[in-house]
Amino acid sequence: MADLYQTYIDGEWTDSASGHFFESDNPFTGQPWALIPRCTAGDVDRAVHAAQRAFTSGEWPSLTATRRGALLRRLGDLVTENLQRLCEIEVRDNGKLISEIRAQVGYSAQWYHYFGGLADKIEGAVLPIDKPDTFNYTRHEPLGVVAAIVPWNSPLFLAAWKLAPALAAGNTVVLKPSEFTSASALELMKLVERAGFPRGVVNVVTGFGAEVGQPLVEHPVVAKVAFTGSDATGQRIYEAAARGMKRVTMELGGKSPNIVFDDADLDNAVNGAISGIFAATGQTCIAGSRLLVQQNVHDAFVNKLVAFAKTARMGNPMDAETQIGPVTNKPQLEKILSYIEIAKDEHATLALGGARATRAECGSGWFVEPTIFTGVDNRMRIAQEEVFGPVLAIIPFKDDDEAVALGNDVAYGLAAGVWTSSIRRALTMADRLRAGTVWVNTYRAVSYLSPFGGYKRSGIGRENGQEAIREYLQTKSVWISTATAVPNPFVQR
Ligand code: NAD
Repeated sequence: MADLYQTYIDGEWTDSASGHFFESDNPFTGQPWALIPRCTAGDVDRAVHAAQRAFTSGEWPSLTATRRGALLRRLGDLVTENLQRLCEIEVRDNGKLISEIRAQVGYSAQWYHYFGGLADKIEGAVLPIDKPDTFNYTRHEPLGVVAAIVPWNSPLFLAAWKLAPALAAGNTVVLKPSEFTSASALELMKLVERAGFPRGVVNVVTGFGAEVGQPLVEHPVVAKVAFTGSDATGQRIYEAAARGMKRVTMELGGKSPNIVFDDADLDNAVNGAISGIFAATGQTCIAGSRLLVQQNVHDAFVNKLVAFAKTARMGNPMDAETQIGPVTNKPQLEKILSYIEIAKDEHATLALGGARATRAECGSGWFVEPTIFTGVDNRMRIAQEEVFGPVLAIIPFKDDDEAVALGNDVAYGLAAGVWTSSIRRALTMADRLRAGTVWVNTYRAVSYLSPFGGYKRSGIGRENGQEAIREYLQTKSVWISTATAVPNPFVQR
């Protein structure tokens, strides 16, 4: 029997208006395990109006910012207290390793604490205005109803990146989780309810992109769309948001270069390259999917890398010993396998993997062998397009200039890694690489404290850090005359 979920709109647990459900699958078994309400435009309208009512009337707009912050911190505490349950559901729905999910979901509590702390530190200014007898000041005010649309690869983590700053700033939210991983967002709503958020402040609409995401983005009452997902969907949403003159933040895909110089500690760089591409089964926007290796260490490095990648244990993501889990959904499995065929057709050299995993411990789950291609030319599709899976493209380079040229020669600019023991090289590469995040001698580090976002096609705006809350605020300038008389408007001064 599949678990039956209801969605959460206007502080109430509810079915979709149609009464229809869709199945959510467990990637390890390939079988459905949950039934999720299949919302459509009518449910979206109900959720958006609930969020608008909560924004304009009732308890939420009259709460002090300090009190808003306290609610967020309470939510963070509840995430910590309910970690085990949240993690079990996330692994069942998403297939990520329990160890990684525990770290990620546990860490997500910090977003509620940090932005809860920022809520009452949003300060305006008094300006030394150039008009006599005039007092001018600014206020930073919330935008209204925020549509938060998240993908399937890190459902609770990425929801926290949006919910925490949006709510800290005083907005209300309609959250749309991915149709592949909706259950954990609904579990989180039980905690939102327990934390004591007033009704309508946070709502969830579950369902498909065309049936729920699109009407949400196009809804005239929605003031802002905060989106994480693919480049193609991002572009569609950006166009729709432009028609409604809505604000956006866009966290899109990547094809990040992970660059190994000959002066690097090669063992560390191997660890960084492996975690860059095989952590989360390669299903991360920041995957270091283009590995650039300096020519004179290329062969030795590739040998070490392949030998280490071969040792990866695949299997049940709930098992603490498993090192590579399944792909989250069947369409993604097929997409990854098709990119492997594309790379073969482009005459890249297959150094490891290159097929669906059929090891006994993978059962009937959606697994792909860790795959490494060498001899990749940066113009190949395998070097330019996001695979979003455990597929690494290795490209040799000669010197620093070529590393920069290759590193930047891609439509994306989300992240880049550099492995070197030279401080000069670390600093110059960090300057020259066109990416929103550059890591030197580390990879995949993110924090609630540090801004995250893309250059070029990888996105617009920043999440995390103090900058993030600005994305959910607008500035009002207030003018007050202290003059005793308003001058005669027909007399030119
Ligand atoms: P996706 O774009 O297919 O879907 C993302 C969300 O958008 C889902 O909730 C989906 O239902 C919704 N959606 C789909 N069509 C829509 C429409 N027309 N209008 C409104 N909403 C719509 O992405 P995905 O396959 O779920 O996730 C993988 C992608 O996400 C990858 O490209 C990855 O790089 C990207 N990603 C980016 C970051 C980042 O921070 N930059 C982080 C994680 C994932």
